[in-house]
Amino acid sequence: MNVVNDNNCSWINVLNPRTKIKVLDKDMSSDWLIIGAGYTGLSAARKLSELHPGQKIIIVDAQLAGEGASGRNSGYLVDTTLNDGFTSNKELSNYKKKTDIYKLGIDAVKRFVKEHQVNCDWNEAGKYFASSRDEDKKKITNFSNTLSKLGFEHNLINKKELKKELGTSFYNLALYTKGGILLHPGKLVRAMIDTLPDNVELIEQSQLLEWKKDNDSIYCKFRKNIIITKKIIFCTNGFLKSLGIKENYNFPLTLTASMTRPLTDSEFKFIGEPKEWGVLPVRPMGATIRMTKDRRILIRNTAEVHSPFKMTDDELKKRSIKQKLGIKKRFSSLPDDIIESSWSGVVSRTRNSSQIFEKIKDNVFVAGCYNGSGIGVGTLFGEQIAIRASNENTNEINVIECRDKPTWLPPKLFLNLGIRTRLMYERFRSRLDL
Ligand SMILES: Cc1cc2nc3c(=O)[nH]c(=O)nc-3n(C[C@H](O)[C@H](O)[C@H](O)COP(=O)(O)OP(=O)(O)OC[C@H]3O[C@@H](n4cnc5c(N)ncnc54)[C@H](O)[C@@H]3O)c2cc1C
Repeated sequence: MNVVNDNNCSWINVLNPRTKIKVLDKDMSSDWLIIGAGYTGLSAARKLSELHPGQKIIIVDAQLAGEGASGRNSGYLVDTTLNDGFTSNKELSNYKKKTDIYKLGIDAVKRFVKEHQVNCDWNEAGKYFASSRDEDKKKITNFSNTLSKLGFEHNLINKKELKKELGTSFYNLALYTKGGILLHPGKLVRAMIDTLPDNVELIEQSQLLEWKKDNDSIYCKFRKNIIITKKIIFCTNGFLKSLGIKENYNFPLTLTASMTRPLTDSEFKFIGEPKEWGVLPVRPMGATIRMTKDRRILIRNTAEVHSPFKMTDDELKKRSIKQKLGIKKRFSSLPDDIIESSWSGVVSRTRNSSQIFEKIKDNVFVAGCYNGSGIGVGTLFGEQIAIRASNENTNEINVIECRDKPTWLPPKLFLNLGIRTRLMYERFRSRLDL
C-alpha cells in the first residue's frame, strides 16, 4: 500500500511550496540510510552529518519530507501530559522519567531553533488542561499534586477566569501549566529540511517497500531502484509496524484535525480578544483546541484505528463535521462555514505509552512512538539514535534508557478489538468535551 498524505493541512499550505524535489531514479549506496523525513529522521540526519562529515548519508521519504505527522500536528511542545496513566502517586517515579525526557525534548528543539534562528511562531504560552465537567475536579487535583511534587509551576483556574482567558464559557475548570510551548509545526519541520547539511542527500516520493540484511549490507527495495547501505535508521513512526519493525510493540492511530480561517476583527472582538492559547483535554479522548497566533481555531477530537495509508475525502468530511460541532459548542457566535481545512495524520502508540529507541539488529536502529508528544521527543530521539548508532553515549541516552520499555502487544485480532473497545469507552466518557 502507498503512503498518501491529503493535501489539506493549513499548517503546510501556508508555507511556500517546495521545489527541486529529488526522487529515487537510480540504484544507490550509502554509509547511512534514514527512512522517514519527519522530526525524527531529519534530526537524525543533522546529527549524523555532524558526527560523520566525510560519509554518505541518505534520507528517504515516501511522500514530501515533513508533510506527515510532523507538519500536521497541533503544535504543543509539551513539558507535562495528563493522559498517559501516570498521574497517581504510586507512579510518580515513572511520571518523572517521562517528564525528564520531555524536558530534554524541549531543550533539543530550543537548541535547533536558536542555532538556526528559526521562526516557528514560538510562544511560551503554557497550556490548559481543561474540562467542562465538575466531576473532573478530582482528576485535576490529583494531577496538581503530582506536578507540585515534581516542581512544575501551575495553578487551578475557575470558569470565570477561563472565560476571560479563552473567550469561551464552555469550560468549568482547568489546570494551567506555565511550561509548554505553542508553535507552528509546519514552519519548524520546514526549517529542519531547509537546514539539512550538504552531505545529506534528501530523496522524496520514494517509498521503501522491503528491506533485508545480508552480512554487512542492508538491501532496501523501492519501486524501481534499490539502495544498499551499511547502516539504517528507521524513523517512520506510524508506519513502523507496516515495515515489520517492532510490530508486536507498536500500532498506528489516525488522528484528524480542522482549522478555521482567521477570525475577523468583529468575531475576535465578540469573544473578548483572547491571547494565543492551547487547551488539552482532561479526559483522554476529549478535544485538543488552540487559538493560534493569527486568530485561527484548531481542533482535534478524533483518534482511531484506521488504515494509516490513506483517509478518503468522504471519511475526512465526516470527521470535519464533528470538528465543526466541537467549535460551535465552544464558540456559538461563529458561522457554520468557518472551517478552512481538515486533515488526517498518523501517530504511533505503544501499550504502556513508552517510546521505542533501540538497535534491533547489528547496524539497524529505530526511534519512534511518541504517543502524541513527538515534537520534542522526536527531535531528541532522532539526534540521540544517530549518536547511539555511531557507538557513542550521552547523558541524554542514559535518561532515555531509564524509561520503562514498551510492553508486548497481543496478536492483531485481539489487539484491534481491545483498542477499538478502549477508544469507544474513552470516547463515551469524553463525549461532552469532544
Ligand atoms: C493531528 C495530530 C496532532 C498532533 N499533535 C501533537 C502535538 O500537539 N504535540 C506533539 O508533540 N505531537 C503531536 N502529534 C504527534 C507528532 O506529530 C508525531 O509524534 C511526530 O510528528 C513524529 O515525528 P516522526 O518524524 O517520528 O514521524 P512522522 O512525522 O510521521 O514522519 C515519518 C515519515 O516517514 C515516512 N514514511 C512512512 N513509511 C515510509 C516508507 N515505507 N518509506 C519511506 N518513508 C516512509 C512518512 O511519509 C513520514 O513523512 C500529533 C500528530 C497528529 C497527526
